[in-house]
Amino acid sequence: MNRDRIADIFSSENTGHEVTVMGWVKTRRDSRGGFSFIELNDGSCLKNLQIIADSNLSNYTEEISKLQSGCSVRIKGTVVKSSGKGQTVELQADKIEALGWADPDYYPLQKKRHSFEFLRTIAHLRPRSNTLGAVMRVRNAMSMAIHRFFQEKGFLYIHTPIITGSDCEGAGEMFRVTSFDLDNIPQKNGKTDFEKDFFNSPAHLTVSGQLEAETYALSMGNVYTFGPTFRAENSNTSRHLAEFWMVEPEMAFCGLEEDITLAVEFLKYVFTYVLKNCEDDMQFFNRFIDKTVIETLERIISQAFEVLTYTEAMEILTKASRKFDFPVKWGNDLQSEHERYLCETIFNRPVVLTDYPREIKAFYMKANNDGKTVRAMDVLVPKIGEIIGGSQREDDYDTLINRIKELELDPENYWWYLDLRKFGSAPHSGFGLGFERVIQFVTGMTNIRDVIPFPRTPGNVSF
Ligand code: ATP
Ligand code: MN
Repeated sequence: MNRDRIADIFSSENTGHEVTVMGWVKTRRDSRGGFSFIELNDGSCLKNLQIIADSNLSNYTEEISKLQSGCSVRIKGTVVKSSGKGQTVELQADKIEALGWADPDYYPLQKKRHSFEFLRTIAHLRPRSNTLGAVMRVRNAMSMAIHRFFQEKGFLYIHTPIITGSDCEGAGEMFRVTSFDLDNIPQKNGKTDFEKDFFNSPAHLTVSGQLEAETYALSMGNVYTFGPTFRAENSNTSRHLAEFWMVEPEMAFCGLEEDITLAVEFLKYVFTYVLKNCEDDMQFFNRFIDKTVIETLERIISQAFEVLTYTEAMEILTKASRKFDFPVKWGNDLQSEHERYLCETIFNRPVVLTDYPREIKAFYMKANNDGKTVRAMDVLVPKIGEIIGGSQREDDYDTLINRIKELELDPENYWWYLDLRKFGSAPHSGFGLGFERVIQFVTGMTNIRDVIPFPRTPGNVSF
């Protein structure tokens, strides 16, 4: 079916030509002058196309006048200049066909505004709402921006595995993958016999593609992964999902400073891209969701980020006049109240913190000479706190294996990871960014469940 996208009709602003549009009726109302106004949306943009349906159209009484919100239609007509407010063009209909009806007694999206909680219960229909439609267009644009940024810089897109045998990180938070009949699990010596399972060993859904990305960085240079990751953490918050998308670049021959430079450039690129390519949707968020989103993004794009060490940040926090819920003590991880205080009150801009205590960071981060800190960097932004976590990776074989042993991990599980430090080791660095968290930041949406098409959270996997 050849159709014209409503977004294209608005952006060209040409008039006098014939088009065929297809979409879903938002509203229809009768006008006293003997015609109907139909507001039509096809998902290509936020704005509805206004259709003028004259009552002398042949099917006016039996069809057109019965159209209600949710019905799908095919409309042929001529684009004309609009005198209405908020739109440049509208459509004078020559022919309107109803394709699919939506019984108003049952169609759940009748009202102009629904709560996000309610919309979550109809995940299959909520993309027809203004907000979810706008979120998904912004999400799409941000995905494009991410790929463009890395591709323009010559990074290779590597598809790291979803199913992994390495429970390298946070095993407690991992989902198990098995083909066992759960009512009849093979046993050996009173324990699950994983040798009889599909992979002959335990398997999990990945929590991060980083370790695998490192192997490709150390043969192909600069790479990135952008895919789904999974956490079985039972945290029912507005910032956690069980299934979320992560962007993870990894660069060979790269130290922490370059890693930071890349992270800052990356965020600015993505924000700039969205402001430029999703103007209407961003105006919508700025009006109805958070009145400061555009201003905040513009400010971040134009500012340098503040870079300081964790230790320097602790000194600032210790001297703060504000009382925090969580104690400020060297060696403790920062809570988002601390991160926000630094960004919002002290520096009034995004902040990059470096050189965290080794105890609160992952085993693979490169040790500093002080024996206490590692080459980590977190990018913190106002309102959210941490948005990116990265580091230079430990590239010294002995230091890495000692750290693995010190943490009572089994070096055998890391044999391939250790091999990278044995054969042609090189300084390398990378970072990880939770895609949904950035979408939240860009749109101002407060709940992470509303920035992914089908949220998976504790107790909810139905659809
Ligand atoms: P948090 O302390 O918020 O749980 P984390 O320290 O577990 O985060 P990392 O393991 O560093 O996070 O993961 C990298 C990035 O992935 C985080 O900076 C965050 O943006 C995102 N992220 C982590 N867990 C989740 C989750 N459950 N849902 C959505 N995004 C997440
Ligand atoms: Mn977590």
